[in-house]
Amino acid sequence: MSKGRLFVISGPSGSGKDTILVELFKKIPGLRFSISSITRPMRKGEKQGEKYNFISREEFKNMIENDLLLEYNCFVDNYYGTPKMPVIAAIEKGEDIIIEVDVNGAKQIREKIPECISIFIMPPDLETLRQRLCARGTESEQKINERMRSAKSEIERACEYDYTVVNDDVNTAVEKIAAIINKSK
Ligand code: 5GP
Repeated sequence: MSKGRLFVISGPSGSGKDTILVELFKKIPGLRFSISSITRPMRKGEKQGEKYNFISREEFKNMIENDLLLEYNCFVDNYYGTPKMPVIAAIEKGEDIIIEVDVNGAKQIREKIPECISIFIMPPDLETLRQRLCARGTESEQKINERMRSAKSEIERACEYDYTVVNDDVNTAVEKIAAIINKSK
């Protein structure tokens, strides 16, 4: 049986990754998603185990010490990491899987699994990005500023990815990503 493929998706906070992924999973049934373990407090509307497992800093530290993470990073004061076993198990079973991580996480994954296919989702411009973050209403002004600073340095690293997809229209962006996934089969 052939192995599954690993797709890595990144993009600044507010670039529309979540909306794109929801639509992508409708289009490509069978595509798996890697649930990250994170220490950020849960936002309104988020559910434990859906996109993230919300854990304590102590639990996160244990995962690092026991080498249970494929990659991890600290983003705006919170830890985010990809549990290793579900990803390896999916690939071994022949299932394609997507990991959504920041640029530092993507670099770590590329070093460990060089055959992964990486896609960067680019916001149309920084002003649109700020408007989306403000409209979300989940972060303080200070956290939005920190996320904007991080976005600028993430965008500079888009060249590290195999593909860049501009999200000025969700449907078009989803079509482009689906084409990348189908093409690399
Ligand atoms: P948010 O707090 O907005 O959900 O996510 C903040 C950032 O963390 C986003 O850029 C997101 O892609 C990234 N992220 C989500 N899960 C992981 C993960 O498991 N590892 C790493 N390194 N970054 C992650």
